[in-house]
Amino acid sequence: MDFTNFFSMAQNEILLHLGLFILFTFLAFLSRGWIGMIWTKDMFKSALTSFGILQFNVLFGGLFFLAYFYVKDTYEALKLPFIPPEFWEQMPTPLVWLILLLVYDLAIYWIHRFLHDKWLWPIHAIHHSDEDMHFLSWSRGHALEQSIIAIFVFLCSAWLGVNLTDFFFLVYLKAMHQYYVHTNIDWSHGLFKMIIASPQYHRWHHADVKEAHDKNFASIFPFIDKLFGTYYYPHTAVEVKTGFKGSPKNDIIALICYPFTQWYKMISRRRAKAASKAAIKNET
Ligand SMILES: [Zn+2]
Ligand SMILES: [Zn+2]
Repeated sequence: MDFTNFFSMAQNEILLHLGLFILFTFLAFLSRGWIGMIWTKDMFKSALTSFGILQFNVLFGGLFFLAYFYVKDTYEALKLPFIPPEFWEQMPTPLVWLILLLVYDLAIYWIHRFLHDKWLWPIHAIHHSDEDMHFLSWSRGHALEQSIIAIFVFLCSAWLGVNLTDFFFLVYLKAMHQYYVHTNIDWSHGLFKMIIASPQYHRWHHADVKEAHDKNFASIFPFIDKLFGTYYYPHTAVEVKTGFKGSPKNDIIALICYPFTQWYKMISRRRAKAASKAAIKNET
């Protein structure tokens, strides 16, 4: 293993997050004044947890890369339909980017919606566990969730007939936007609030408020939510509580184990219910 390379990667990652910390704290100051600059002890605790989960997921980074080529090769070997490259070649580049973002966001909308379903929720709940949201909350995602999303994104790429590796710029831009929507900046994007997701639109998705549950699933384009009846934005959510009841909060081990502990509890409850039903039937 080349340790020089490893240390320079780690250094770049720390510098990037430090830069984002300064940028988003400054933007929060512009939107909310001095209060936006305050990083409480709980926010730092939450940041450390999210950063820890990110490092855990980075360990799977190489596997995601292998999975990408595996999905692509299998898709081609099965001769499944795909859009020919000539279709994209005749289009201006910004239009290609826009179509790709739209298709990916539509796919992510539905995957995200399914992740809120009973049996998949324990995987996604980790992302919703943060009660002190900030830009790093985006990286609070379980490796299982990231694997599910990655496989669907890879399938989309195979159908679109594009190489994800040719669109690193877009992937990077989308990552920056995701960091941004998880900040506590009080911006809703005014007239453009249906066009591009804002921090306040996404904060409602994380809100621990009954009316906001299972709303605002889109990652970039809120009009997708409008289209499918899941859009919710009554007013700014800057003071609204986030997280959910029974969340492991900042316990990193409990967060990583959460899907398995929850599934175990759910199956045990189901078995106990079935056993008590059978006992009542036997008595009658
Ligand atoms: Zn969600
Ligand atoms: Zn989120």
